Amino acid sequence: MILVLLGPPGVGKGTQGTRVAVHYDVPTISTGAIFREAVARGTEFGRQIQRYRIDRGEFVPDEVVVGTVRARISEADCIGGFVLDGFPRTAPQADALQHILDEQKRSLTACLDFEADTELLVNRFSGRRVCPRDGSTYHVEMQPPRQAGLCDLCHAQLEMRPDDAPEIVRRRLEVYAEKTRPLIDYYSALGLLYTIDASPEPETVFSQVIALLTEVRRKQV
Ligand code: AMP
Repeated sequence: MILVLLGPPGVGKGTQGTRVAVHYDVPTISTGAIFREAVARGTEFGRQIQRYRIDRGEFVPDEVVVGTVRARISEADCIGGFVLDGFPRTAPQADALQHILDEQKRSLTACLDFEADTELLVNRFSGRRVCPRDGSTYHVEMQPPRQAGLCDLCHAQLEMRPDDAPEIVRRRLEVYAEKTRPLIDYYSALGLLYTIDASPEPETVFSQVIALLTEVRRKQV
């Protein structure tokens, strides 16, 4: 099971990606989470990433992102597959992914495109909280942690992402429309695109995703 998740920032890709990955027992690879963690740790790589201003929603250069993903999907835990959240985000990244998978004699199972109205996205941003230590994501109303403000897994204090501020959200939505939305046509042309209505509750969206993937896998056997 190798999945690409598309959809605007705030649509709930991360939440669904994590659940789908648990369901199929494969890792989720979120390039955004990898970058945020590196910045938080203050490693040399993190300092390099910080210079690209991901806190303002600007993109990390393709060659850096592709190198990161290539290394990660070559690790042993990805042998049975993986879920990509936030990658690819540009046409050159999508080409690079196809190339890496060809080299590894593997192929993409599907690309899921999560769609929802902009109004709903803005609401999801304002309630989103992340754990700075393990990267897990919550929403104050839709997916609250068991104890308010604390991560369920490691009990760290949850934070808002700096790039979830309204003016930066606007910028991220613009960059998405310009650079990432064209990938919908890219995966549609490959016959791998499946659109998911991401507006219902996360549980309902998840059921739709699993029903769809069960069907996709049945057809591919
Ligand atoms: P995300 O958590 O997916 O919203 O990613 C957070 C930020 O990390 C993005 O707004 C970009 O600044 C950067 N980033 C993550 N993935 C990529 C990518 N595939 N290409 C370029 N920049 C990325």
